[in-house]
Amino acid sequence: MRTMVWFRSDLRVGDNDAVWHARQRSDDGVVGVFTICPDQWREHDWGPMKADFIRRCLLELRASLVELNVPLKIVVTPRFEGVPGALLALATELGIDELHMGREYEVNERKRDQWVADAFGDADIAVHRHTNKVLYEPGQIRTKEDKWYSVFTPFKKRLYARWDEETPEVLPAPPPCDAMVCEADPIPEPGEWKTWGFDFAPEHATRPDLWPGGEAHATERFEHFLEAGIRGYKDRRDSPAINGTSSLSPYLTMGCIGPRQIVHACLDQNRHDFWKGNAGITHYVSEIIWREFYQHLLVGFPRVCKNRNFNTEYDGFEWNNNDEHFAAWCEGRTGVSIVDAAMRQLNTTGWMHNRCRMIVAMFLTKNLLLDWRLGERYFMQKLVDGDLGSNNGGWQWSSSTGTDAAPYFRVYNPISQSERHDPEGDYIRTYVPELAELDAKQIHDPHARTGGLFASDLYPEPIVDLKGTRERAIEAFKRYRELGEVRVI
Ligand SMILES: Cc1cc2nc3c(=O)[nH]c(=O)nc-3n(C[C@H](O)[C@H](O)[C@H](O)COP(=O)(O)OP(=O)(O)OC[C@H]3O[C@@H](n4cnc5c(N)ncnc54)[C@H](O)[C@@H]3O)c2cc1C
Repeated sequence: MRTMVWFRSDLRVGDNDAVWHARQRSDDGVVGVFTICPDQWREHDWGPMKADFIRRCLLELRASLVELNVPLKIVVTPRFEGVPGALLALATELGIDELHMGREYEVNERKRDQWVADAFGDADIAVHRHTNKVLYEPGQIRTKEDKWYSVFTPFKKRLYARWDEETPEVLPAPPPCDAMVCEADPIPEPGEWKTWGFDFAPEHATRPDLWPGGEAHATERFEHFLEAGIRGYKDRRDSPAINGTSSLSPYLTMGCIGPRQIVHACLDQNRHDFWKGNAGITHYVSEIIWREFYQHLLVGFPRVCKNRNFNTEYDGFEWNNNDEHFAAWCEGRTGVSIVDAAMRQLNTTGWMHNRCRMIVAMFLTKNLLLDWRLGERYFMQKLVDGDLGSNNGGWQWSSSTGTDAAPYFRVYNPISQSERHDPEGDYIRTYVPELAELDAKQIHDPHARTGGLFASDLYPEPIVDLKGTRERAIEAFKRYRELGEVRVI
């Protein structure tokens, strides 16, 4: 038996069900394959930051697989439609008997996987799908009425109970194969990625210094956090000026580390208790479950993959159109210092602190009253950890159109948020150097707090009045809800 592992967002060999089972069932070699679909990826708004990270992860994966005598083949086909034919041709050429893959949950990805399963089925090659990306398959955590959860806390409670009933196992890396079936392919060079529309030139700041690729690095990052960061996580996680979070999101998004590994390691340090014990650990595990929740929603409520509001009640809501405001937001020149710092962090590092993601998302959708889809798209183009489930979930939460969303009348004031979470202004100083000389009070609202002395050619005046736009947003939502059609989800 010769097997093939199709890697996707599970770029690791440890705790990878597809790798493990492909190896277990094979006595005549295992082949790995990764498919690059540049046009489709760009259509999904993946940018150079994410693509370059994937390239680095592939280099590491290829090396780890060579140690196991598993060659990694690379298939390039512009769109998902080309995948079944290209994979089947490779499998036929290499005499493959079985295909193993971890499941993905976005609508287009599920369609692609079904096409592949059909094509392989027609060719009498068995296809085995595995759980690699989540703790439980979407659909396995359901309400008493056998419905999908749309609220986080009961979902989490049910998941924790299920864990006690049926704990998912962590699998080790498999033993090496006796011999390589064929040569591994080279990982395409940056020049080739450029022809596909992903330019990794320094001005696009894809930051290999911040985000080294691969499983070994992800493990090291997690172990360091477990040792030095997790116990203080609850107290430090909301301060963007410090490294208070694990910064594992790109590694979870591309599967260099999996959620089972993380939850088991956390529980081992907390007497296997989800609820009590160290608050840093219980909080951290809860954040991993937010990610899980958003993956489950992709299957339970597939409209979120199709640019639709989760809460269809808002389908007729009219957002503003204002290209200048949107451009100022993207470029970090809104004149609201915490918003500008956060957007510049995103633009220069490919990552943004969670607290700041919520602040800029509320600012865009409430103060500017711009459509959450604009923000979601821009984030996806820039983020190294861009993930449809979490990104969409975060945006719809912030714009009050999502599951378990912030109620429309709770609108963050970015200045109070800044004073509370960046009290010394250190985060702002890092990303908005033109404000570096201001003191810890002035920096949160530069123009108002320097008595107008601060030159607006050095730093812009706020593009909107925060108080007035907050009231306008609440009024718009209220009016819409009173007059608009209210549908039951
Ligand atoms: C508007 C908006 C957009 C977002 N877009 C993304 C995205 O594209 N990709 C992404 O991975 N996360 C996204 N998030 C969630 C969150 O901001 C990031 O996961 C987190 O900031 C990553 O940093 P970390 O790894 O240090 O997190 P930690 O605080 O160390 O948390 C550990 C892990 O838990 C998960 N997690 C933490 N918070 C959340 C959350 N609120 N929702 C879902 N998962 C969470 C992530 O996988 C994270 O790596 C978004 C949040 C908002 C508000």
